[in-house]
Amino acid sequence: MTRRATTPEGRRRPPTRGERRAPVRIPGPVAVGLSPVARERIPSACPEPSALIGPVRTCVGCRKRAAKSELLRVTVGSETHGQPVVAPDPQGTAPGRGAHLHPTVECYDLAVRRKAFGRALRVSTGLSSAPVGEYLASPSNPRSTAPPP
Ligand SMILES: [Zn+2]
Repeated sequence: MTRRATTPEGRRRPPTRGERRAPVRIPGPVAVGLSPVARERIPSACPEPSALIGPVRTCVGCRKRAAKSELLRVTVGSETHGQPVVAPDPQGTAPGRGAHLHPTVECYDLAVRRKAFGRALRVSTGLSSAPVGEYLASPSNPRSTAPPP
């Protein structure tokens, strides 16, 4: 982990010839973090360096950004009565609009309280997120924070 502290000296570094870019601006397509080398060059634009590895999504619960692989994707499904529900999509393969959250009960609770699922999934009424809560609480959840027996 080479976390670079932003020192005042670093910012006051005289600009090189012809370079007038703002420090947070990353030129070219390398900004998305596909290259591990690009990570080293981003001057603390993001508080979490780990968030720059691979695709990044925002958790609808705590609103923090994290690598997509660390988050649980959820999509809109429908339960037996035809009511729209938030369904967990651990494989991330379900079609349609999805939202992401940390696979923890804490972030789930936050998302429920903020009605973040409805907003993220564009479902305004009658959306039940119970399946996600059950999924996260269930011991079969591979990412459950509960220690194995
Ligand atoms: Zn979260």
